[in-house]
Amino acid sequence: MTEILPNSGDVRAARERVVNWLDAHRNELASQLMSFVAVPCVTGDEGAVQDAVARVMRDSGWAVDRWEATREEIAPYVLHVGEQERYAGRPNLVAKVLGSGGGRSLMLQGHVDTVSAGDPATWTRNPLGERAGDRIYGRGAVDMKGGIVSMLAARRALQETGIDILGDVLLAATVGEEDGGLGALSTILRGYRADGVIITEPTNRALVIAQGGSLVFRVTVPGKAAHGAARNEGESALEHFVPIFQDLLAWERERNATLSHPLYDHLENKFPISVGLVRAGNWASTVPESLVAEGRLGFLPGESIEEMQRQTEARVAAVASRDPWLREHPPLVEWFGGQFASAEVVADHPLVRTLASAHETTAGTPVTISGVTYGADMRLFTDIGDMPTVMYGGGDVRVAHAADEYIDLDDVVSAAETLAVAICAWCGCDASPSA
Ligand SMILES: [Zn+2]
Repeated sequence: MTEILPNSGDVRAARERVVNWLDAHRNELASQLMSFVAVPCVTGDEGAVQDAVARVMRDSGWAVDRWEATREEIAPYVLHVGEQERYAGRPNLVAKVLGSGGGRSLMLQGHVDTVSAGDPATWTRNPLGERAGDRIYGRGAVDMKGGIVSMLAARRALQETGIDILGDVLLAATVGEEDGGLGALSTILRGYRADGVIITEPTNRALVIAQGGSLVFRVTVPGKAAHGAARNEGESALEHFVPIFQDLLAWERERNATLSHPLYDHLENKFPISVGLVRAGNWASTVPESLVAEGRLGFLPGESIEEMQRQTEARVAAVASRDPWLREHPPLVEWFGGQFASAEVVADHPLVRTLASAHETTAGTPVTISGVTYGADMRLFTDIGDMPTVMYGGGDVRVAHAADEYIDLDDVVSAAETLAVAICAWCGCDASPSA
């Protein structure tokens, strides 16, 4: 279909009605957010909050698909989302809002799970929700129940102001994002597809088109035990690990100096390689007979999991080949835990253009296009679902996971406005009075 610009007549008319609707429903949206924040929903325990989200979906007149991921369906993808302790009682929701036909489809997605509120004594506000003027505090307020309120409000505003949307809109509220993305993956495996996906994570209304990847590795270095008094009879696994560690740091420096990505070049360290755990030996006066080091390696959009694994293994093997002991007793490199792919949508993709101009129309200033270094569900939609995916939402991720997490109602409402305009422009719309 031909591209509908966000400044076309119908979209302009739709936006005006959406703004009025959002204005009139501000307090209702605030209570809705409060009702979501009031239900504890740490990853793994998302059932109760989904009851609240499903209620809002049904009250809007939408049919709701509610299902739980199973161990069997996830098994082939377990490296992508990590092992799960349990699957039961963790429902995902999709409300499918059918369009009148002929337009592109769009999925709006958010995760309902949160990290723990931590020690309540570190909070000055109620972690289960407290409103102070236009600011709503509570665990999950910004990450990302505010985003879920925004996306539901966007579609509902269009519906309740008589704007006819041509394409289908899928509204997905999923579980397990903080722990690898179980719900997003299950949504894809259930067959949900759209011509574009917007994840309403708190990006401060920047348009995120790229996400870095990360791998967790384990290096096991063999040694040979001996009494510390005769240490030359042994082979210290610790001493043999040191050159491997130094080479990883040298590789990090080389990569920073030679590789480049426009969205990441401003970072001090684009490719952090961090060893977070080292365990060696078993007695103070014994030469350590083995060492295990575990760490995380970050990489850029455009680089693949397989390529990064291959290069890491080659670096370690090269160090080993220069050491007589390690040549005969090669260190073992293993990959465990979540292996998170990077993700990227080209900057001139129609989805990026549509959302960028929807933002500009509502905010009055050009959108900031950016990339992030942390993991999120984006990679699952691009890699496994093969759908162009971006992230855009209100609120500041820097207050997420912290005490006194909050989001301002203005951010919820402005994001909803942009999303509504984007739905109109992407899916096509008719704002004529007869519609
Ligand atoms: Zn999040």
